[in-house]
Amino acid sequence: MALADELRRLLADEIVADDAETLAAHSGDKWFAAEQPEVVVFAERTEQVRALLRFANEHHVAVTARGAGYGYVGGCVPVRRGIALSLARMNRIREINFADAVAIVEPGVITGQLQRAVRKQKLFYPPDPASLENCTIGGNVATNAGGPRCLKYGVTRNYVVGLEIVLANGDLLRTGGRVHKNKTGFDLTGLFVGSEGMLGVVTEITVRLIPHPPARATLSAAFDTMQEAAAAVQEIFARGFLPSSLEIADHFVLEAARRDVGTASVPAGNAHLLVDVDGQLESVRVEIELLREIVEARRPNYVEVATEEADCEKLWALRRQFSNSLRATGLTKLNQDIVVPRSHLVDLVEFAEHLRAKYGFPVATFGHAGDGNIHVNIMADRYNREAAVREQVEHALDDLFQQVLAWGGVITGEHGIGLAKKRWWPQATSDVSRELHRALKRTLDPNGILNPGKFLD
Ligand SMILES: Cc1cc2nc3c(=O)[nH]c(=O)nc-3n(C[C@H](O)[C@H](O)[C@H](O)COP(=O)(O)OP(=O)(O)OC[C@H]3O[C@@H](n4cnc5c(N)ncnc54)[C@H](O)[C@@H]3O)c2cc1C
Repeated sequence: MALADELRRLLADEIVADDAETLAAHSGDKWFAAEQPEVVVFAERTEQVRALLRFANEHHVAVTARGAGYGYVGGCVPVRRGIALSLARMNRIREINFADAVAIVEPGVITGQLQRAVRKQKLFYPPDPASLENCTIGGNVATNAGGPRCLKYGVTRNYVVGLEIVLANGDLLRTGGRVHKNKTGFDLTGLFVGSEGMLGVVTEITVRLIPHPPARATLSAAFDTMQEAAAAVQEIFARGFLPSSLEIADHFVLEAARRDVGTASVPAGNAHLLVDVDGQLESVRVEIELLREIVEARRPNYVEVATEEADCEKLWALRRQFSNSLRATGLTKLNQDIVVPRSHLVDLVEFAEHLRAKYGFPVATFGHAGDGNIHVNIMADRYNREAAVREQVEHALDDLFQQVLAWGGVITGEHGIGLAKKRWWPQATSDVSRELHRALKRTLDPNGILNPGKFLD
């Protein structure tokens, strides 16, 4: 019997699809690789996920979980075909509890929806990937997603206090719970956060919440050089400030934005800095003025401060446009979410110039300066059309990752390894670490059915 028919009999007709359109829509994410599954299952309840995995484990069928398919590294591409397991229909917020400061959600809830729902109760779920209006909490857990606010508030991992996970054999594992501290045994919750769908399928998530800061302020500044902007970043920390976000962008990004949205909307200069602080109204007002003094003393080309939410968002509009402006160049934007120790910010920008000179691609850098998670975007012409261009890009990435690792940095801070970074996984990890990863995988998924073909194969 065909796989789809067997699954219809096992589960329910309306949650199993194998028409061409659905298969194509579940073949990849926002990276370049694609492979069609044989069948797509749209789980609506944990029990269906359990029945599906019991079946797949017994018959050695590959199962690749997916949320919204907004990943950047091909993580949900069903490389070995089999079953694409969509969690998108498991999208209920089960509970938001102010007294316990937790929310309990299904994995298909969109991150931005959760943030808005908890805010109605003056609660805050801080992790803010740029994709938050599209990606799911389940995907965020599986990739340990981050974003600008993670400088002050930490990444997804720092908010997940409990998980319900269906293991490869269909067993149900519950880790943690609704308490904010818990040291009962090993940190199993932490093991599954960032496991990219290879150790189990997440079917329920408990996140801790914090009080929503009532006020916020933003400072936008532009400097002639990246060196000046990076020095301002270091001084902000040296003077004892911990902004909620601290974003930087280089001259290629600013030039792309000028061509895209017009010179009037982009301040003059070759380096842009955006700083956010939040907290109580009075302290935020004092802090932003002190930050203005620090930045102005460094003679920027421009400084602007906003203290009302709408005005802050106006200053952020430029930052939010950067990705689109880079795409509007017509070049293919290959975004690498590397992290360097913060002292290497300027070295990184200089290294990007070196790559540009060596390979001839423009290289645009912007991102989270505060935690060294700078997105290095190789901007390639004819990337999808010419194998020679793709090969050159691979060489440029070899150079980039080798240098980042030599500085003590890492090849991914928030997107994950997936398929995109599989080639560099051996360089980025030790033999002992890789063997431990494989041993964990063998223990939890001895038949290798969960998201096979990724970096552990
Ligand atoms: C424009 C854009 C901006 C982005 N900005 C950011 C950013 O600022 N920060 C950041 O961290 N990321 C960012 N990303 C990457 C992406 O949004 C995140 O990786 C996000 O967490 C993916 O969520 P998803 O629901 O789309 O997951 P998918 O792409 O569907 O899946 C991602 C991985 O998670 C696994 N998975 C999904 N759901 C489950 C589950 N329930 N159980 C087990 N495994 C599961 C999949 O197998 C896959 O390995 C961006 C992407 C785009 C396209």
